[in-house]
Amino acid sequence: MKVLILFGPPGSGKGTQANKILEKYPSCIYISTGDILRENIKQNTYLGKLAQNYISQGLLVPDEIINSMIENKIKNINDNIDFLILDGYPRSTNQLEFLLNLIPYKDIKVIYLKIDLKDVINRIVYRRVCPKCNKIYHLLYNKPQSNETCDNCNTKLIQREDDREEIVTNRYKVYLNQTLPILDKIKQLDIKFIEIPADKDINEIFNNINEFIKN
Ligand code: ADP
Ligand code: AMP
Repeated sequence: MKVLILFGPPGSGKGTQANKILEKYPSCIYISTGDILRENIKQNTYLGKLAQNYISQGLLVPDEIINSMIENKIKNINDNIDFLILDGYPRSTNQLEFLLNLIPYKDIKVIYLKIDLKDVINRIVYRRVCPKCNKIYHLLYNKPQSNETCDNCNTKLIQREDDREEIVTNRYKVYLNQTLPILDKIKQLDIKFIEIPADKDINEIFNNINEFIKN
């Protein structure tokens, strides 16, 4: 199975670009570990209860929990999909090593959406999401058609609890300390990789991504 990893700090546009990739390549599968965890919190599952405390503080959920969640998802995916899009995983060197035991590195491509803290805060503080279909909006750059309701399903948009500014700063620190070091490993391993400045227009970024997917 081919895997496309969307890598970058919170707010770099991974979910937004994943949705554009899915529109263009409908026979892909999309896994966002953050979406799965939030769904589990909503349903009050055992996993949700374990994850809640970490997420509300902007900390990573422990690797063993996330790795076994990913393993379960991946083993249930049919091999004849175009590719699997991973958003928010791997997020630590341990998670990268775990993934490489499931998927050979030659079948992996990594897209790094690069952006700095100032832009991240601006992106996240104005982010709104649909709690029903997970569509992502921005109150300035990517507005819903009518006032704070979802264009797809008309549900009232919400702000994620962990999108408050003080937690975002913590999430960015966690990203720098625990997630960014993965990039060195990826480069050492010769995994196919592209770095894209993420402070550009959504469609311009998508065109770069699409060229990388095709080649
Ligand atoms: P991530 O999944 O990496 O956390 P999102 O895709 O949720 O990031 O994007 C974060 C916020 O930034 C959202 O409000 C989204 O609408 C907005 N956004 C995403 N990409 C861009 C872009 N290229 N330009 C402006 N705003 C963007
Ligand atoms: P995201 O939706 O990707 O911004 O993730 C929201 C939160 O979920 C993160 O701040 C973490 O607390 C948790 N999370 C998501 N993915 C992972 C992961 N791969 N490893 C650990 N924690 C994760």
